Amino acid sequence: MEIFRGKSVLQGIAIGKLYVYEKKESSWTKQTVQDVEAEIVRFQKARENAIGELDDLYQDALAQVGEENAMIFDVHKMMLDDLDYVEAIEACIRTDSVNAEYAVTVTGEEFSAMFSAMDDDYMRARAADVLDISSRVVRILEGRDDAGLHTKEPVIILADDLSPSETIQMDKTKILAVVTKHGSANSHTAILARSLNIPSLVNTDVEISKEYHGKEAVVDGVTGTLFIEPEAEVLDQKKKEQAEIKEKNERLKLLIGKENVTKDGRSIKLYANMGNVEDVDKVLANDAGGIGLFRSEFLYLGRDDFPTEEEQFAAYKEVVSRMEGKKVIIRTLDIGADKKADYFGLDVEENPALGYRAIRICLMQPEIFKTQLRAIYRASAFGTVSIMFPMIISVEEIRKIKGIVEEVKEELTRKGISFGAVELGIMIETPAAAIVSEELAKEVGFFSIGTNDLTQYTLAIDRQNQKLEPFYDSHHPAVLKLIEMTVQNGHKAGIWVGICGELGADDTLTETFLDMGLDELSVSPTYILKLRDRIRNIG
Ligand code: PEP
Ligand code: MG
Repeated sequence: MEIFRGKSVLQGIAIGKLYVYEKKESSWTKQTVQDVEAEIVRFQKARENAIGELDDLYQDALAQVGEENAMIFDVHKMMLDDLDYVEAIEACIRTDSVNAEYAVTVTGEEFSAMFSAMDDDYMRARAADVLDISSRVVRILEGRDDAGLHTKEPVIILADDLSPSETIQMDKTKILAVVTKHGSANSHTAILARSLNIPSLVNTDVEISKEYHGKEAVVDGVTGTLFIEPEAEVLDQKKKEQAEIKEKNERLKLLIGKENVTKDGRSIKLYANMGNVEDVDKVLANDAGGIGLFRSEFLYLGRDDFPTEEEQFAAYKEVVSRMEGKKVIIRTLDIGADKKADYFGLDVEENPALGYRAIRICLMQPEIFKTQLRAIYRASAFGTVSIMFPMIISVEEIRKIKGIVEEVKEELTRKGISFGAVELGIMIETPAAAIVSEELAKEVGFFSIGTNDLTQYTLAIDRQNQKLEPFYDSHHPAVLKLIEMTVQNGHKAGIWVGICGELGADDTLTETFLDMGLDELSVSPTYILKLRDRIRNIG
């Protein structure tokens, strides 16, 4: 038995086999090759493997989501067999004496540009597909794993680190727990794990080795321990503790349908945070009063191109419709820092958390912003939608945003497309926003305090940096004072104020938040019933 310690992200226990996940980052460079025929054979082998992978994906998708949705993998297979595409790659290797990775990438880009320029909608849509198949072949050429989990049984993932875009692509039904050597408890990957109710450890003192692959393990999120090949006694004990946690969660289910009211009659709304459309199942199962933070940027991660207006509309509409009139607060695109998507073409920055991100991208590239706003407004016809904007620092930004929102509404009205009454709010997650919250409150319908970033920016501590975790203190008086000040200024202007950062789920502060007068706490679905229990015992 080997024992390792990590920082727990979610209190739960998982028992299962380890799955060692290797990094997905690409590292090829353009190279001249001597033996072009051997390079063509290398390409052909990778192409055949890619077709094999797509066969498997097609079969899995057929069983899980039906023929219509599985079809895309068949289309990709056909594209990999397309003679024009294959011959163009071979010609590139032969004439330029270059490595297959380079030939596949440039040919993919050329074909994609050609498809994009076509009149036919169907062919235009193939532009992203040809990039997709090309990156699959390049990945195989490099001998990298894909983000998919090649396992029939659910597993415990053991990885060096995971990015939000890698996590988003994994089949969540196959994940029992996640253990990473690096990573911070405040990162979005940790937040994702929490929202999926997956016990996870970050910053664990384990060396990632392929030797662990397939070995039995226990992840104890209560004590932050990983046991590899546990002794029989430990295994028995952990199974018992796992059953106790399950029983406790069953007991909490009795609170479904009950009010979030203290013994002395004070009430607060409990909403849920979510990132993927599938999360709505958990939101509903845990009886959330609404969705207080839909991290819409997750729709943009783990893909090769921007999600179209139609794709976004379908996602928002599904969430809004399933919530059946309960409020859904969609946070507009908060890309940047740890949430990266290559196709945005963002520069590498010295200080990405202080960089070109979130609302700054939306205001500088309004077409990206408008596509999202159109999709959200269209979905608003199907339920109750609010929109909130991240990383706000000034009144001027809000005025610009409102101008763009008006243009979108006018465009939809002109086209006869219906939409609902949408409440607009902002996140208070920069010290600047909290300090000028009196002025900001006059411009919007609500405030939602993002304590994750508010802590990061107030304390000047990178939330991604695992070394600084001992200093990352969301209970710091400066953070709590900014929260209180925001609530007071919001209420002075007659608007409601909530918290959607992770601190909202910290039950040692629930009473403090009630005393401050917060109107709403939006937390991972897993925490809703626990907090309801806490609230009902106060007073
Ligand atoms: C926050 O910063 O507290 C927040 C809710 O947003 P995110 O964690 O997605 O940055
Ligand atoms: Mg934030």
